[in-house]
Amino acid sequence: MRHLHGAQILTDHEPDIRLETADRDIIALGIAIAAIILLVGTGGSVLPQAVGALLSHNSKPDMLLVNALLLNIALIIFGWRRYRELTREIGERRKAEQRAQVLAATDPLTQCLNRRSMVAATEDLRARAAARGDAIAYCMVDLDNFKQINDMHGHTTGDAVLVMLCDRVRAMLPNDARLARLGGDEFAFVIAYPAGNAERVDDLVIRLFERMAQPFQLPEVTIELTMSIGIVADHDATGNVDASIDAASLMHRADMALYHAKKQGRNRYFWFETGMEHELKFRNQLEVGIRQGLTKGEFVPFYEQQIDVQSGALVGFEMLARWRSPKLGLISPEIFVPIAEEIGLITEMSEKLMELAFADAREWDDSLTLSINISPMQLRDPWFAQRLLKRLVEANFPPQRLEIEITESCLHDNIGLVRSMITSLRNQGVQISLDDFGTGYSSLEQLRSLPFDRIKIDRSFVAELREPGRKSTLVEAIVALGRGLDLPLTAEGVEDEETLKALKAMGRLKAQGYLYGQPEDAEAVRKRLKAAGLLPGATDTTLPTEVAQPAHSAQARSRSA
Ligand code: C2E
Ligand code: CA
Ligand code: CA
Repeated sequence: MRHLHGAQILTDHEPDIRLETADRDIIALGIAIAAIILLVGTGGSVLPQAVGALLSHNSKPDMLLVNALLLNIALIIFGWRRYRELTREIGERRKAEQRAQVLAATDPLTQCLNRRSMVAATEDLRARAAARGDAIAYCMVDLDNFKQINDMHGHTTGDAVLVMLCDRVRAMLPNDARLARLGGDEFAFVIAYPAGNAERVDDLVIRLFERMAQPFQLPEVTIELTMSIGIVADHDATGNVDASIDAASLMHRADMALYHAKKQGRNRYFWFETGMEHELKFRNQLEVGIRQGLTKGEFVPFYEQQIDVQSGALVGFEMLARWRSPKLGLISPEIFVPIAEEIGLITEMSEKLMELAFADAREWDDSLTLSINISPMQLRDPWFAQRLLKRLVEANFPPQRLEIEITESCLHDNIGLVRSMITSLRNQGVQISLDDFGTGYSSLEQLRSLPFDRIKIDRSFVAELREPGRKSTLVEAIVALGRGLDLPLTAEGVEDEETLKALKAMGRLKAQGYLYGQPEDAEAVRKRLKAAGLLPGATDTTLPTEVAQPAHSAQARSRSA
């Protein structure tokens, strides 16, 4: 029944002009009324004559007048019937137009309001709440990873989930609340609450999250779903009204809060705060900067040394992207990679960086490997492996020297696809490492069944080894796991000798980290390699002492793999 809301909103505010004029089309009624007046006029003289003629049988009535009388009656009947027809027609048209209005105002799948009508609905509720001294909260809802449900189970299932979800939300909202589907998997609702009591909104939203945590039971599948919500009110926390705000700015702010919730890791909600607006502005600047920087070649590869812990030899480099922004300076991938992923530029960025890295690494000694980080986004492309292999051929770079690092989050997306990609890359000699191991949720089964060549222990665990007295149980456990699965290991984030010492005691490992120096650009790497005699094209190999950190420089040339 709630779908009638749409009609209410529109009829309240937009009287239908065509129907009004049709209503006023009183020609037919006018004819009938004129005929009645004529009848009264002519009838006044004709009727007595006619009656007299009937009674006396001698005087004849004036035929002309009688004809006029009959014509009058016919006109009355005609006029009246036409009038009746017209009003019925108008009634039907009005109903049809109302139906059309409801359809135009609602989402056909879920019967919620749609984006267009939600603006009016919000203004409407705000006006009514304001009259009572109440506040309203506008809540923007977005389902997390809904696309995957559509992809995995088909759109029919996806649609069914959306309908069920709307029913759930609707059942929990107060009566005068309005619920809209803004499009796809994005919803919004607006509710009134007593100004200054925003915790009522929190309560409702928390209950919504609890309800959403219950799986959706469909005939063939059970679907689990999470959502993110951004909320904004037309009153501040103390209950003061923000008079300048309108429905459009409420929507915009709720959207920013939603975006924030998504960025904080989804499945949560946030109230809008002004800081979010600045954050978003900054982000938009970054976005523009990234787009431009990409065409101007501002993204460059830096390299971090990878060392064999036992021998201390340099065995390769991990390529770490950097943005040399003329405006902002040297920017970390932790800032720009997520944005590049979001705006769909990660593949392009990665391929440009790879091209540069292949060219750099080709000059290095053949024994040195090159590790490259691959975003989960890139792995969603079924042609990823083919593209990479093509690039290797074009760059004339031996696949045996390449290692790609993927994180555990890649494994959630589409394990079948990832498996076949890994397999085809490995068939060509490319090695695959599981990066940041321990921070995600890969199962032992995945570890066992996916053909990884190496595990990289996340630096958050390695950092534990720094405290001398502390037990390094986690790193030891991961090392034991690696040994059990016959997988070589790399420890990331080695910052000091203490840690290195602890690692050495654990057997054969690779290590990388600030202990060996900060990641550096191609030129610095060339110098380093040249000094170590690991740059075959260069003739000058007379400066071996500049290699790596003093503690390992002597062994750097022994290069055991
Ligand atoms: P990661 O793969 O875990 O890379 C290691 C990060 O730890 C690097 O940060 C590195 O500079 C830093 N690091 C190295 N040694 C130490 C240490 O001893 N202590 C501490 N505290 N940190 C250390 P960076 O370069 O900022 O990279 C951050 C992340 O960005 C990387 O994490 C990687 O996941 C991602 N990334 C970097 N380059 C690329 C790229 O080309 N493509 C993609 N998709 N992701 C990249
Ligand atoms: Ca990495
Ligand atoms: Ca890592």
